[in-house]
Amino acid sequence: MVLALARQQNKRVKVVGGGHSPSDIACTDGFMIHMGKMNRVLKVDTEKKQVTVEAGILLADLHPQLDKHGLALSNLGAVSDVTAGGVIGSGTHNTGIKHGILATQVVALTLLTANGTILECSESSNAEVFQAARVHLGCLGVILTVTLQCVPQFHLQETTFPSTLKEVLDNLDSHLKKSEYFRFLWFPHSENVSVIYQDHTNKPPSSSANWFWDYAIGFYLLEFLLWISTFLPGLVGWINRFFFWLLFNGKKENCNLSHKIFTYECRFKQHVQDWAIPREKTKEALLELKAMLEANPKVVAHYPVEVRFTRGDDILLSPCFQRDSCYMNIIMYRPYGKDVPRLDYWLAYETIMKKVGGRPHWAKAHNCTRKDFEKMYPAFQRFCAIREKLDPTGMFLNAYLEKVFY
Ligand SMILES: Cc1cc2nc3c(=O)[nH]c(=O)nc-3n(C[C@H](O)[C@H](O)[C@H](O)COP(=O)(O)OP(=O)(O)OC[C@H]3O[C@@H](n4cnc5c(N)ncnc54)[C@H](O)[C@@H]3O)c2cc1C
Repeated sequence: MVLALARQQNKRVKVVGGGHSPSDIACTDGFMIHMGKMNRVLKVDTEKKQVTVEAGILLADLHPQLDKHGLALSNLGAVSDVTAGGVIGSGTHNTGIKHGILATQVVALTLLTANGTILECSESSNAEVFQAARVHLGCLGVILTVTLQCVPQFHLQETTFPSTLKEVLDNLDSHLKKSEYFRFLWFPHSENVSVIYQDHTNKPPSSSANWFWDYAIGFYLLEFLLWISTFLPGLVGWINRFFFWLLFNGKKENCNLSHKIFTYECRFKQHVQDWAIPREKTKEALLELKAMLEANPKVVAHYPVEVRFTRGDDILLSPCFQRDSCYMNIIMYRPYGKDVPRLDYWLAYETIMKKVGGRPHWAKAHNCTRKDFEKMYPAFQRFCAIREKLDPTGMFLNAYLEKVFY
């Protein structure tokens, strides 16, 4: 009905899930379809360990349903207030070099196209569209349902301990082997690193977090100090080192159900970039970023630079297409909503990411256009051909996607 009206009135249509994408990939000045009411679990196949859901279901609502059946998703991003259709649309990822981005957990989906046809897509049915639609950018039609491959429910132990950038970069392969879901946080303007291992465990839920510092005073103090640093940018290096000492300087352990360990609260407003680079370029890229900050003391960088690892896949517009990848996520907070100058940092980071063959996260900030994507993605033309066939008039485009496709 909405699509028919859009055709009639020559309007564009944007489908949104949680609306949590920091880039304007989910924005429109045309019609907007919010998927909030398409939020049911349709089928749980305990034998195959697969769940079929309506695409608007929030992962936060899916987890308890999976818990009831003794199932879980093998990997998640940092937040669960996002939808099944949305996380696959933007190529959401977490960490774990044996694990792909979340879209690799999709075994089937249904897609309502611009002309009103419903396509069932999987490896065995409309396989070409399936290869494209698992990272769909919201430009192929309305994802109605998603079938996800699950695993038996599991608990994770998270162990956090301090290290240095040199140690982690010198021993990257060893860290990747030691922990199934390894990631680390680098504190710019210092050598400090917080290593985070997450691994299967049979231990009961427990936490050694210091609730007072970690979750109460610590974060209020951080926001206040970051606000002061908007007048005195030279303080940022000191703030990064102080908070490493305060919050990350000891060993901590947490055990819980996997979805409670994978996700965490992102407390402050922030700007963010997150590129996927070939895994073997991790050291070169991080050292170059560090050298750039040392050579340009006026460029300030908030902590953390979050470094995660992901297995390569065969999804046409996945940033991990055909290569194991390292995601390097940089942030600049906006204390009390105040904008902090970031363009020099952003530009230097993007230059390094491009130089080492990076591809930007679709849901986060970047300045790339079609010319860049043609170079970055070997299957870019294939995706474009599928999109043009499914949506010849560009009904599902918006300003963001025009930069990608024109
Ligand atoms: C606090 C926070 C933490 C985050 N952490 C991570 C992280 O750890 N890793 C990571 O990779 N990303 C992360 N992100 C980014 C986030 O995972 C993605 O932006 C994700 O796409 C958001 O899901 P959503 O349901 O809000 O999607 P939306 O923002 O609503 O939509 C994303 C895209 O999918 C399209 N879309 C959504 N639903 C449908 C549908 N049913 N049919 C067709 N198109 C649809 C939209 O048009 C848009 O193009 C984070 C974001 C925030 C705000």
